[in-house]
Amino acid sequence: MITFKEALDLVLVNTPILPAVWKNVHEIDSDVLAEDIKAKVDLPVFSNSAMDGYALRFEDTHSVPVVLRIKGCIKAGDFPRAIVGKGEAAKIMTGAPLPEGANAVVIVEDTEEKEKTVIVKESVKKGDYVRLKGEEIKKGQIALKKGTKLNPASLGFLAAMGWRKVRVFSKPKVSLLITGNELVKPGRELKPGKIWESNLTTLNAALDQINIKPVFSGTARDSLQDLEKKIQKGLETSDILLISGGISVGDDDFVQELLLKQKVKKIFWRVAIKPGKPTFFGIKGKKLIFGLPGNPASVLVTFLEFVRPAILKMMGQKDVLLHERKAILEEKLQKKVDRAYFLKGILQERNGRAYVKSAGLQDSHILESFGKANCLVFLEKEKNFFKKGERVKIQILPWK
Ligand code: AMP
Ligand code: MG
Repeated sequence: MITFKEALDLVLVNTPILPAVWKNVHEIDSDVLAEDIKAKVDLPVFSNSAMDGYALRFEDTHSVPVVLRIKGCIKAGDFPRAIVGKGEAAKIMTGAPLPEGANAVVIVEDTEEKEKTVIVKESVKKGDYVRLKGEEIKKGQIALKKGTKLNPASLGFLAAMGWRKVRVFSKPKVSLLITGNELVKPGRELKPGKIWESNLTTLNAALDQINIKPVFSGTARDSLQDLEKKIQKGLETSDILLISGGISVGDDDFVQELLLKQKVKKIFWRVAIKPGKPTFFGIKGKKLIFGLPGNPASVLVTFLEFVRPAILKMMGQKDVLLHERKAILEEKLQKKVDRAYFLKGILQERNGRAYVKSAGLQDSHILESFGKANCLVFLEKEKNFFKKGERVKIQILPWK
C-alpha cells in the first residue's frame, strides 16, 4: 500500500492547471490571476486632498495664526483652475484635486473661516494631507502578479486601476456521485435497514468552502447498470468526478471495476491512512476521478487531503494543502494500525502555547466529533504511541 505522501504526490503531479478565461472583476470571488497586471495609470491618478480643509503653500504657515485669502472651493470630482499663490488658500474636500501652487492641506479643524479669508491656526509641513499622484503605484509597474489569489481588497485595487476584465484560471467542473442501496434522502421516511444519506451534504458544503458548485450530483444504487450510466454522465460533464462509496472490497463495490471499464487509468487504490484506506484515484485524459470511501468521516478526510488540493491546484492556487503547525498533546494517544492517522482534534491556545486533544470518538462513521473539531492531528504511520506533552503535527480545518 502506498503512503499518504506518495498518494498526495501522485494526485498533484497528475493534476493539470486549467486554462485561463476572461472574467469580469465584479464576478470574481477567490479566483487566481493568470497574468501579471501592470498599472495602466498612476494611482492616485492625480494628487488630491486626504482631508476636508484648505489647500495652501506650507511656507505660508511657518508662523501661525496666519490669515490667507480663500480662492474658491474645490470638491471631489471638480477640476480646479485656480492657482494658489503666496498668501492664498483654496477650500478643498477629501478626494478633490490639489490645485496648482498648493503643496499641503491644513485640516478644517485647525482653521477658522471669516468672510473671504481663513485663519490657519496650526503650521503644516510640505505634503501634509496630500495623496500624491502615483504614490500607490506608478504606471507600468506590476500591480498584481500572476498566481495571486484575488480577495476583496485586490479586486477593489483592480477596479480602482480601471480594470473591468482580467484573465483568471478556470474553475474545474466537479460532479458528485453518491452510491449505496441503503441510502435515503434526509426528510424521507426511513424503512428498516436504511439510513439517511449524508455525504452529498458534506461534500457540497466542503466544495462550497472553496467556492465550487457541482455541475452534476447524482445518486446511484449498487447495481452495475445504474452505476455505469451515472459514472458515464459524471465523466462526460466534469473535470473532476467524485464518487462516494462502493470502492472497497464488498460484494457490491462496483465502482473501480466500472471506472476501469470506462477507460479510467488507475493511479492508485488504497492508501496507508486511517480513515480513508480504500481511496481510489484515476485519470482519464485531463479528468480526475476520485473514488472516496463512503463512511461519512472518511469521505470528508479524503476530500480534504486529496481532492481539495487537486481542485485548488487546477484553479491555479499555490497554497493548496491544509495549513500545518505543531501543538502539544494534552493526552496520550495510541493508534492500533500501522497507517498514518488523521485524528479529529481540538486545538486551543493557552498562555501563548498551542495544545491539542481528541475531539471524541474517532471511528470512520462518526461525524459528531468531526463537527466539534478544528484540526486534524497527523499521527505518522511509523509510530503507534504518542505521549502526553509530545509535540505533534496538526492540520487546521479550512472552514470559512
Ligand atoms: P461503502 O464505502 O459504500 O462500503 O460504505 C461504507 C459505510 O459508509 C457504510 O456503512 C455505508 O452505509 C456508509 N455510507 C456510504 N455512503 C454513505 C452516504 N452517502 N451517507 C451516509 N453513509 C454512507
Ligand atoms: Mg456502499
